[in-house]
Parts: sequence; C-alpha cells; structure tokens
Amino acid sequence: MSIRAVAIALSLLPSVGAAHDHATAHYLGNEGVMVEHGDTKILFDAFYSDSFGQYALVPENINQAMMTGAAPFDGVDAVFISHVHGDHFSPEPAIAYMRAQADVVMFAPEQVRKKLLEAGVDTDDPMMTRVRTIALEPDDNGEAMSFGAIEIDVVSVPHAGNRPHIQNYAWRVTLGDDATIIHLGDADPAVSNFSRHQAHFNSKTTNTAFPPYWFVGDTNGELILSDIIKAKQTIGIHVPKRATGKGDQWRARAGGDLFTDPGETRAIAD
Ligand SMILES: [Zn+2]
Ligand SMILES: [Zn+2]
Repeated sequence: MSIRAVAIALSLLPSVGAAHDHATAHYLGNEGVMVEHGDTKILFDAFYSDSFGQYALVPENINQAMMTGAAPFDGVDAVFISHVHGDHFSPEPAIAYMRAQADVVMFAPEQVRKKLLEAGVDTDDPMMTRVRTIALEPDDNGEAMSFGAIEIDVVSVPHAGNRPHIQNYAWRVTLGDDATIIHLGDADPAVSNFSRHQAHFNSKTTNTAFPPYWFVGDTNGELILSDIIKAKQTIGIHVPKRATGKGDQWRARAGGDLFTDPGETRAIAD
C-alpha cells in the first residue's frame, strides 16, 4: 500500500483502547460520585442513609442500579469512603453493596471498619478481606497503594467545623495512567491543612478535584484548589438538595462548577 493508502486505512480503524477514552464523572447525590475511565470505575461516598433534612439522598433508581450492577454501574472496581458521617457512609447500604458486588474492594478510614463491625459484621467475615482501612493523622505523610490499574494516594484533611475526632481523608485516585481525581470529603478550607501536604499535591497532576461546595467561591478554598492542589478542573459537591433543578443559578452564584442534580455527568478535564 502507498503511504496515502495506509493513512486512509488507519483513519478508518475504529478507535480502540481505553487510553483514548475520556474519563467521565457521574453525580449520585450529596458527595456521591462515580468516575469511569474505560473499563475502570470507582465510587466515592455512594452508600449513605442520612439526608439530615437538607442533602440529597441517592435516588432509588440509581441506588438499585448500583446494587444490581446495572449499567453504567456495572464492573465497579473500588469504592472510597471519605468519613463516617451518615450523609457519606451508612453501614447497612455499604454492607448490602459489598455483599451484592463480590469483587469490589472498599478503601476507607479505620473508623469505617469499626462501624461495619458494630453493625454486626464478623471480623472473619470474607467480606472484610475486601475492606482496606487506614489510620492517618492530619500531619502524617500521605499513604500510597494500588489496586489493579488504580493508583491511590491519600492524606488526612481535617473535617470542617472543628471535628478533630473524625478521620476525613482526601483520596487521590489515578485511573489508567491519565485521569487523576481527588475527593476532599468534608474538608475544612484551612490553607495550613493542605499546605503541609504540598509535596504530596506536587507529586501528581490532578485533573479534577471534588471539594465540598463551601470551597467554591471561598477565598481560602479557591487558593487551596488553584495554588496547592492545582487541579485543572473543580466540581463542587455536597450542595444542599434545594439546589436540585436550579444548578445554573447556584453555579452562577458560586462562580464555579457544582454538581446539583443526581444523574448529571461531566467530562473529566484532560
Ligand atoms: Zn461530615
Ligand atoms: Zn457531609
């Protein structure tokens, strides 16, 4: 074949390979997010029962699809939990999911393990071999781990509102080499809580940060996102339920992107 014929033939090939797929974020409710990149899928803060009267629960149709592994929630690899508050994690739905999806691994603070055991799971229950918990203090160095094609780094970032007894962890996860996202749980937008981990944040380029919405439009929150984490894209989460259906108004007022309606999606920035 001539070079021209080869070029034409190549251009006609279907695009294959996860490396060229864009990663996508799916909003579930409150701080619940699924990120998918090719065949790799992870969930954050997806199993919780408390709305505290003001936060969106995961809608029943989404919850059912996750529990049964229906598309797009089929083939989830790992679930991450930021902290044990009931608007992020509740033992019952988390246990039900881990039992229904027998290949999924959970990454969580040590306080989550305690809640699972208190809820009646035996320490030698086979499910617990898929629950990986860590204990970190805010000034501890980050911890790195990997799972299949997923690279994980985590640091402890204190919870907003002076709740030092709560282990609130910022999971940074890289899917398939080129999509790195970070979920901040209910972090306080205090600069020193993040600047002490500057080397950690410098060690990787973060495509997308998911901070609680109180970072978006806040002087310190914006500084943390732009100068310390240096995320290419920010999507605020934990937006109150009353914002559902009024996303444009809330985004305009916040001066940045927010997830407000369960089921909405965003492309992860390249
Ligand atoms: Zn909380
Ligand atoms: Zn919360």
